[in-house]
Amino acid sequence: MNINKLAEQNYDWVERMGWHNKTTLEALALVASEVGEAINECRGEEPTEDFAEELADIVLRVLDIAHWQGIDMEKVLLAKMLKNKQRGTRGRAK
Ligand SMILES: [Mg+2]
Repeated sequence: MNINKLAEQNYDWVERMGWHNKTTLEALALVASEVGEAINECRGEEPTEDFAEELADIVLRVLDIAHWQGIDMEKVLLAKMLKNKQRGTRGRAK
């Protein structure tokens, strides 16, 4: 399944739950809250077992916003990866 299909399925579920009642800024704030949750799972020596789930929460919230805004994330991700690759190290040590 490609990432846009995942985004669509997740969006449809969030819609059925009635949780699409936010502004873009509020939705982004919830991405930040999931980043905070992921941080809390990394406060020990090693990330906890729940760390992966928090990363999934971050991605799902981002994909939800992308689908809502009509963004083709597969296309954008591939384009951005290429752009990053073409930028090279920009003077940073390898
Ligand atoms: Mg979470």
